[in-house]
Amino acid sequence: VPQILFSVFLLGLTTVAFVLVFRSLRAQQKLTAMKNDFISNITHELKTPISTVSVAIEALSHFDALKDPERTREYLAISKTELNRLNLLVDKVLKTALFDQQRIAYHFETLPLVPLIQEVLDSLRVQFEKTEADVRFQHGTGAFSVSGDRVHLMNVLYNLLDNALKYSRSRPNICLSLTDMPHGIRLQVQDQGIGIEPEYQLQVFEKFFRVPTGDVHNVKGYGLGLSYVHQIITGHGGTIRLDSEPGRGSTFEITFPYHG
Ligand code: ADP
Repeated sequence: VPQILFSVFLLGLTTVAFVLVFRSLRAQQKLTAMKNDFISNITHELKTPISTVSVAIEALSHFDALKDPERTREYLAISKTELNRLNLLVDKVLKTALFDQQRIAYHFETLPLVPLIQEVLDSLRVQFEKTEADVRFQHGTGAFSVSGDRVHLMNVLYNLLDNALKYSRSRPNICLSLTDMPHGIRLQVQDQGIGIEPEYQLQVFEKFFRVPTGDVHNVKGYGLGLSYVHQIITGHGGTIRLDSEPGRGSTFEITFPYHG
């Protein structure tokens, strides 16, 4: 009997080991596929402005710039815009590389969230107007101060608001709110956009993950924003959760620990 029990135990152990190795291989494969997608997306995007500028320069070298100042100005303006875009993209890639190596540095200070959010909303005004977004910000009295890194928390807000705009079909409807809760300060960013199916709601926080279905493929992105947001909020001792319903919208809920 002990020998049989031992064999059963060994068999069980082998099965568990096999399942674990198989799962880890699958996870590895998935990550590799997502990274490949990211690389092909970013390569495509880096190449587009480079070839546009090349075409503009090529064209400029084929006619007498002095005789056609109008066209010259036009080509130079195109080149300038494309180079700016390239600059932003390279910046993004470099930041991603830094973030990949977990080298995020924090500069914590007492940070009142009300003026911070207001500042972010003001700087996005043009984008809100362009998309005809209806954006509301609800908060009680008080400044809702946390111990936070100003730049990273602004980036968190930019990412969430950018997503709320990107993943809404038309006239985005966005509501931000700050509430005092027994265990901390709650910040909600709510949209009435396309929503996220339940099976993807945890995965959206993974690096390179993008929902593989629906309209998302028409929207530019690298699947990095939410993993950055998650990392920054965790770095602040906070939590983030998602509540979403396909076709109805999403709410990202962040809880910050009380300052002091
Ligand atoms: P990106 O937007 O660059 O693809 P993110 O990491 O910000 O990357 O988001 C990951 C994915 O989560 C997105 O590709 C999209 O599928 C989904 N997602 C994020 N925010 C929203 C939202 N507000 N509404 C619907 N889907 C969203």
